[in-house]
Amino acid sequence: MHSEIMQLPVLSAQTLTNQASTTLVDNFGRAITYLRLAVTDRCNLRCAYCMPEDMRFLPTKELLTDAEIVRLVEVCAALGIRKVRVTGGEPFVRKGIMGLLREIKQTRGIEDVHITTNGVLTAPHVPEMEKLGIASVNLSMDTFDEKRFFELTRRNEFRAVWGSFEALAASPIPLSVNAVIMDGKNSDDVIAMSEQTKHRNFIMRFIEEMPFNGGTHKVVAPVWTYKKILSALQEAFPSIEALGRHDHAATAELYRIPGYAGQVGIIAGFSRTFCGACNRIRITAKGILKTCLYDNGVLDLKRLLREGASDDAVKEAIIIAVQHRFRDGFEAERHTHSASAAFDSMSEIGG
Ligand code: SF4
Repeated sequence: MHSEIMQLPVLSAQTLTNQASTTLVDNFGRAITYLRLAVTDRCNLRCAYCMPEDMRFLPTKELLTDAEIVRLVEVCAALGIRKVRVTGGEPFVRKGIMGLLREIKQTRGIEDVHITTNGVLTAPHVPEMEKLGIASVNLSMDTFDEKRFFELTRRNEFRAVWGSFEALAASPIPLSVNAVIMDGKNSDDVIAMSEQTKHRNFIMRFIEEMPFNGGTHKVVAPVWTYKKILSALQEAFPSIEALGRHDHAATAELYRIPGYAGQVGIIAGFSRTFCGACNRIRITAKGILKTCLYDNGVLDLKRLLREGASDDAVKEAIIIAVQHRFRDGFEAERHTHSASAAFDSMSEIGG
């Protein structure tokens, strides 16, 4: 995060109380009900589109503690956040993660908790996630081919991840597999991965490549845009049916191949076709609030907590930050990224 944290005006207590009792609404009238929460930047894979091989992770003291995370979830819930997606880095490398998930799940106001994981350590936790009532799992897996998996992740963990895929596909927890499509790297896998939805009821989602790899300075549009992915699917499955989005704020356009148990989805993460209904904010692994994936962070929540701010003061700061959002990801990118600054790694942001 290179730009200065935005200097924001102070709100009256009255406005604060009014706000707290209703939903968090941004300066474009969008209700913010969804928090993507990165609980660590550490990961046990080294996916090239996400981080450099020699990634330097944050010192532990720079990460939010369990108590700080739970407090921030409580504050966000009091402001109207109802859905939390726990991300990373890789959440299951964080010690005591199941206990933390339980506390987040039990936070008053939080209706559902979802997880994004890379599957290396996930399989043994599936039964407990079922008991806990985890609402869905996104498994980040960019290929089902073992050799290519090693090439993309630079780690020999295919068997463990495949084991988690099978355990999750057999579990009642709704499963989506997310694959970032990179030209000439795994773009040949789109059809083979879609074929896995024939007998398995999960959503195979293809994501446009984005510049969050901790090294990119210059933004280059991906070759495999949602249009190119869709036309490859339509060519292979001419009778594929469009199902639309899961709900108005969802990012994936869903499709079904007739006769297949599962669905296929496309997320235009770079083309940013869904900003008009954006309902999410993010807290990064080091406790920075992002009101858009493409901004550079707008509020240092960890510093506020560690400087002894009250819950009301934290609420006030979040409300003001949300009321100063960018219209969409393009505006955010224009206003916050300079050629001299590299984009943060997705492992810090949490996707
Ligand atoms: S790019 Fe920003 S505004 Fe658009 S959907 Fe993502 S977070 Fe929301």
